[in-house]
Amino acid sequence: MVNCVICGKSDLNNDTIGINKKLLGENISNYYCLDCLAEYLECTVDELLDKIEDFKEEGCKLFK
Ligand SMILES: [Zn+2]
Repeated sequence: MVNCVICGKSDLNNDTIGINKKLLGENISNYYCLDCLAEYLECTVDELLDKIEDFKEEGCKLFK
């Protein structure tokens, strides 16, 4: 089980974990929930969701 390092939100889902790895590196040990990741990257949650869909369409292995 993976929790958000900022707000402690628990049980981050595979999509959230995948986008963390995709944007921050596959070897990271701290994960952010989508809200905190959006704030950290100065973008919106909707933009992150769009990126997740894009990566899925590309068949990225992190999103299976
Ligand atoms: Zn969070």
